[in-house]
Amino acid sequence: MYMLIDTHGHVNFRAFKEDGDEVILRALRDNTWIIMPGSQYSTSKRAVEIAEGYERGVYAAIGLHPIHVGEQRKVEVLETQSEDAGAKQPWETFETRAEEFDYEAYKELISGSSKGKVVAVGEVGLDYYYFPKSKTRREEIKQKQKEILQKQMDLAGEFGLPVILHCRKAHEDLLELLTINHLRGVVHSYTGTAEQAQEFLELGLYVGFNGLIFKDVPALPDPKEVIASIPLERIVLETDSPYLVPPAAGQERNEPSFVRYVAEEIARIKKVSFEDVARATTENARVLFTLSVE
Ligand SMILES: [Zn+2]
Repeated sequence: MYMLIDTHGHVNFRAFKEDGDEVILRALRDNTWIIMPGSQYSTSKRAVEIAEGYERGVYAAIGLHPIHVGEQRKVEVLETQSEDAGAKQPWETFETRAEEFDYEAYKELISGSSKGKVVAVGEVGLDYYYFPKSKTRREEIKQKQKEILQKQMDLAGEFGLPVILHCRKAHEDLLELLTINHLRGVVHSYTGTAEQAQEFLELGLYVGFNGLIFKDVPALPDPKEVIASIPLERIVLETDSPYLVPPAAGQERNEPSFVRYVAEEIARIKKVSFEDVARATTENARVLFTLSVE
C-alpha cells in the first residue's frame, strides 16, 4: 500500500470549518498525511490546535503569508489562484488582514506545542502580484515583505526548522535571500522557470507541485517541462487545499486526499510508476520535515 504526504493542505482554513475532521480522517484512511501551513497568526494557531488532536499523520507549520504583510486590501482568489489564467469568477474574495509580524508570538506557537507538531515555518515568502500602481509604494511593500521574511527565516533558524516558501513573481529576490540564509525548505506551488528551479535545487531546496500542473496558464512556464527537469528526489507533493482542485476530483473544493491525482500526473510526466512517485515524494517530505513514519 502506498503512502502520500500532502505537504501543503490548509484544513485549518475557513473552507473546512464544518467538516475539517472528516476531511482529515478521509486522508488518513487513504494513507495520506497532511502538513497544514498557517497564513497569519490565527490560522497558524488553528493549525497547531488541529495537529495536536491527532496522534500521527497531521502536522502544522506556522507563519505570516506575504499577502498579509503591509496594507489591508481586497484579494480575489481565483479557482486557479492565478489571475494570469484569465478572467474567471473568483473562488473566494476576502479582505487581507494586515498583520505586524510578532516574533515572540509565533515563537510561542512552536515552543508551546508540547507534542512537537510544528514541523516548519510557513507559509512565508514573497508575493509581488497584488501590487499598487505607485512605484514608490511598490518598492516599500517589497522591502517590507523581505524584511518580514528575513525575521521568519531567523525564527526557522532558531528552531532548526525548514521553511515552506510561497513565491509569486519574486523568484530572483527569494533566491537572493536563500543564498544568505542557508535554510532547508520547499518552494511550494512552484511557478518559476526550470533554470530557477536548478538554482533552488543547488541551494538544497525541494520544489512542491499541486493541481496547478493541470492548468494551462499561458503567462507561466509549462509545468510539464519544469517537472521533467527536476529529479524525483527533490519533488514533494501538495494540494494547496481548498484551492487548485485537480479536475479529476470532480468537485469545487480541494482536499488532502486528492494529492493522489498530482502523484498520478507527475508519474505520467516523468514516465515512472505511481508507486515510484509515492515512495520518492513521501521519503522527501519525511526527511525535509523530520517526520517519523514508523
Ligand atoms: Zn498555501
